[in-house]
Amino acid sequence: MAIGDKAKCDIDPVCQMDLSEIHGKYMYDFEDEVYYFCSEMCKEKFAAEPEKYAKAKKS
Ligand SMILES: [Zn+2]
Repeated sequence: MAIGDKAKCDIDPVCQMDLSEIHGKYMYDFEDEVYYFCSEMCKEKFAAEPEKYAKAKKS
């Protein structure tokens, strides 16, 4: 699988950690997208300012 095919949920949007091996067990729902995090700390950072970390939606 090419790197470009990686779903964005495989990357921690806060610290950019690759979660494909550890499987992010911390999840947060934002605007119908589910984001995964390496730790509860990253999840809380995201939850505090989701618009800062979430990728801009194209639609
Ligand atoms: Zn993280």
